[in-house]
Amino acid sequence: MRVFKFGGASVKDAAGIRNVHDLLKQVGYEDVLLVVSAMGKTTNALEVVIKDYFDKSPALKASVQEVKKYHNEIIIDLFEDEKQEVFGAVNKLFGDLEYFLENNKSPNYNFVYDQVVSYGELISTTILAHYMNFKAIDTQWIDVRHFIKTNANYRDAEVDWEATQNNISKNIKRKKLNITQGFLGSDDNNFTTTLGREGSDYTAAIFAYCLNAESVTIWKDVPGVMNADPRYFENASLLHQISYREAIELAFYGATVIHPKTLQPLQKKEIPLYVKSFINPLLKGTSVSKGTALEPYLPCFIVKRNQLLISLSSIDFSFIMEEHISEIFSLFHQYKLKVNLIQNSAISFSVCVEDKFDNFKEMNAILSKKFKVDFTENVTLYTIRHFNDTAAETVENGKKVILKQVSKETMQIITSEN
Ligand code: ADP
Ligand code: ASP
Ligand code: MG
Repeated sequence: MRVFKFGGASVKDAAGIRNVHDLLKQVGYEDVLLVVSAMGKTTNALEVVIKDYFDKSPALKASVQEVKKYHNEIIIDLFEDEKQEVFGAVNKLFGDLEYFLENNKSPNYNFVYDQVVSYGELISTTILAHYMNFKAIDTQWIDVRHFIKTNANYRDAEVDWEATQNNISKNIKRKKLNITQGFLGSDDNNFTTTLGREGSDYTAAIFAYCLNAESVTIWKDVPGVMNADPRYFENASLLHQISYREAIELAFYGATVIHPKTLQPLQKKEIPLYVKSFINPLLKGTSVSKGTALEPYLPCFIVKRNQLLISLSSIDFSFIMEEHISEIFSLFHQYKLKVNLIQNSAISFSVCVEDKFDNFKEMNAILSKKFKVDFTENVTLYTIRHFNDTAAETVENGKKVILKQVSKETMQIITSEN
């Protein structure tokens, strides 16, 4: 079986959905499982719905309406005839969402978040599956929540591999085109959970692992994995081959083209990962597999914006030793701050973190009792794998460098915006 993942950009409008159909005709769709994200920026739009809901804002109705309108325009474009079943199916999903928003009693933000954002994927896959059937490609729509089981850590749920493996081995019908949702799972009480933003790549890897798939292909708006994000670097080049290890490093440092959790399950079973263009599906793209680290061998640039640089020093000039460090890290873990760089000296300790869940303020109140805490918001972290002098100059040119760290293969540079 082959697993294909289509992200938001590939299904952002009616033309995108038609393109998925045409692409499948070209590359084949028998014995394929499609993992699909929410259309375009729907997850962001649903985050606005959640904010309005918690703010008790009068804009709530309009923000739901906006998501509805966006999808309705796509269905009208694709199907024209309003008697098609898809209209009822999508309306039903919006009805369920509205029912939830009217009747939910839980004050738990993360729980509500997952119940609401999940509609993005439920709707996109419903539309795509109906379209495939409409185009005479026999398609099975699957509710991923019956397959991927997780703990109840809403917004960042961890997979229960045993239960998931069991569900997938028993119940996926091969020889068919199966379509399911990326990013979602469900907990023991069958409430919806999500695997973290951009988690659909990971969903594809979970299925591939449990199905012993032949390969995973993630279809992108770029030709493959490049040595830099082409949005920020004019001369980015395509990497033809990358080893799992190198890909894990790139994803870990923040190359958003592959979600970092995706690679481990694939590497364990040596399932190749292809990253290809949904615009030119017959081109080779990038192959991630065992073997050559990087072909061609080029410096790779990764940019992470909106980082927080925190410097801690001891109040009484005592050393920052293991026990302090372990205490600091357990706080980072507890408050879900992702650490992207560490630098320490005898009496000070600097970390560059990402505060995805806006928890730093609360954590700082605790840290400040024990350490002198300085922090700079909004810094940019550049990572260069396989750096050389020219590569470092490209990054540093015209910027204010506030920290630099070099190891054998990787250079990291933090710059401030002002
Ligand atoms: P999806 O639609 O699957 O969610 P994303 O938008 O998450 O796709 O990922 C594709 C984007 O990743 C590209 O448009 C590109 O701007 C960005 N990107 C970041 N780093 C790289 C890289 N090293 N190579 C290619 N694209 C990259
Ligand atoms: N729709 C989700 C997100 O935007 C998951 C994904 O696209 O991978 O984060
Ligand atoms: Mg994405």
